[in-house]
Amino acid sequence: MNILLHACCAPCTIYPLSILRTQNHDVTAYFNNPNIHPFKEFKRRLTTLKDYATAEKLPLVTEDKYGLTEFLQKVVFKEEVRCPICYQMRLQKTAEYAAEHGYDGFTTTLLYSRYQNHELLKKSCETLAEQYSLNFLYEDFRTGWQQGIDLSIEKELYRQPYCGCIYSEQERYDKSLRSK
Ligand code: SF4
Repeated sequence: MNILLHACCAPCTIYPLSILRTQNHDVTAYFNNPNIHPFKEFKRRLTTLKDYATAEKLPLVTEDKYGLTEFLQKVVFKEEVRCPICYQMRLQKTAEYAAEHGYDGFTTTLLYSRYQNHELLKKSCETLAEQYSLNFLYEDFRTGWQQGIDLSIEKELYRQPYCGCIYSEQERYDKSLRSK
């Protein structure tokens, strides 16, 4: 199948891409991540993904415009439920793009992360697949967690230390937020 793979970053793309290619799918990566903060981090993740895609001969479509304002407008005052909103923003754009450009289906590298709400991601993708008449290629990519990390280190890819948004950046570095 002709698959659009929503890619949050290069390191998280490695394992899902290897599985999809093993299954003989034609994969195009799609970067649309308005959640990433700050701007320099957004650029760094995007540049790393572009370099990785070139090295892997992976077709890549990118939303290069920084979507900070749109992201914050959606999550401010809803910080406690920001992750479901963030998933929906990114996955809806992916499904929309896939439907508009004739892809057979889509999936996301977010299903590779041990830190995301896997079941919610799966459900959101299933709903979007139905809505846009697409196939959703579900795989529990978490099974390749360590393999993906090892390969990203071997390839000397930039590995980000936090999920992406301004809140996750604070949670990573603000000692006062750490559990005692
Ligand atoms: S923690 Fe991660 S998934 Fe949740 S809102 Fe922030 S960037 Fe999005």
